[in-house]
Amino acid sequence: MKIYHNQSLKPYNTFGIAARCRQLIEIENEQEVPLLFEQKIFDSSYLIIGGGSNMLFTQDFDGTVICFRTKGIKKVAETEEHVWIEVAAGEEWADFVSFCIKNQYYGVENLVGIPGLVGSCPVQNIGAYSVEVKDVINQVYGYRIPTGEPFVLHHDDCQFAYRHSIFKSTLKGKCLISRVQFQLSKKEHYTITYQGLIEELKTRNCAITLANVSDAILTVRNRKLPDISKIGSAGSFFQNPVIEESQYEDLKVKFPQLITFPQNEGKVKLAAGQLIELSGMKGVREGDVGVYPNQALVIVNYGNATGKEVQIFYQKVQKKVAEMFGITIVPEVNIY
Ligand SMILES: Cc1cc2nc3c(=O)[nH]c(=O)nc-3n(C[C@H](O)[C@H](O)[C@H](O)COP(=O)(O)OP(=O)(O)OC[C@H]3O[C@@H](n4cnc5c(N)ncnc54)[C@H](O)[C@@H]3O)c2cc1C
Repeated sequence: MKIYHNQSLKPYNTFGIAARCRQLIEIENEQEVPLLFEQKIFDSSYLIIGGGSNMLFTQDFDGTVICFRTKGIKKVAETEEHVWIEVAAGEEWADFVSFCIKNQYYGVENLVGIPGLVGSCPVQNIGAYSVEVKDVINQVYGYRIPTGEPFVLHHDDCQFAYRHSIFKSTLKGKCLISRVQFQLSKKEHYTITYQGLIEELKTRNCAITLANVSDAILTVRNRKLPDISKIGSAGSFFQNPVIEESQYEDLKVKFPQLITFPQNEGKVKLAAGQLIELSGMKGVREGDVGVYPNQALVIVNYGNATGKEVQIFYQKVQKKVAEMFGITIVPEVNIY
């Protein structure tokens, strides 16, 4: 376990916000977790972070930040069709995806290129290119706060939904996720439904393999998303709004170009990026904050923006969209 005092959080969040915290603890081994409870860390303010790629710090954090840095990718069971892999919370998501591609395990290739750690992937049920991580999560292991009691939550108990899970509702801030168990397929199968991916694979005229599909996805992603080693960002800043069909029917008259995604009866999901673009905010920059010119859903920090500046800016984007469409777009990013 490593402990730092009055620590800058700049290296701990991909937005590159220079907030500070009172104390930061890096857990390097799962056996250290009970120490957090013995030392009563959860009796005062605390925050759990992974790779900090879905966070916006709008101020300093006067408390303890806890980060998992535990490692381990282990095969725990196997049949002819499936394999079950248990992964420590501190593993980089990217390393796990590479492991699966190398071993010809199918299921996470469409999620290649998503930053962050494995321990965070169930929290917002990460998703991309028609796949969500819930499709491959079998169970999630962790410890309840404040008791320290270990738990195992099976897939069906995680309440997974679009960018949502129990870890974002009832268990938000009330548990430490220590490991995730995935069920992957050993039988060749792909999810190639996203138009941009279909076109990229067509252009390449290559064989459909795990390596080629994930490489094509990286190309498609890189066209639209900023390189976080150069420009600060937390990826898609807003969730796609889901509205009543009746509201959509009214909007359609004025904005026939609106993109929709199929939903349950009576509801329509719109593309937040398109709403931002139509509101005129795509590519707009104010100081060091802006809407990324290649993807309107992404808010970026071009250098030294403060969290407060990002907050004022994203609220302006919300206002513009609300004025034009009567829809409040909600951040997907966790704001502190
Ligand atoms: C360029 C870019 C592209 C992105 N693309 C996508 C995308 O395509 N799809 C997508 O879904 N997301 C995307 N994201 C968002 C982000 O990468 C994911 O949400 C990712 O899972 C966050 O992982 P993290 O480790 O950085 O989590 P953090 O941002 O550190 O934490 C996220 C949340 O999880 C909680 N948490 C983290 N670890 C634990 C733990 N061990 N126990 C309990 N709670 C925990 C935190 O408290 C916080 O609430 C993108 C982000 C960026 C910057």
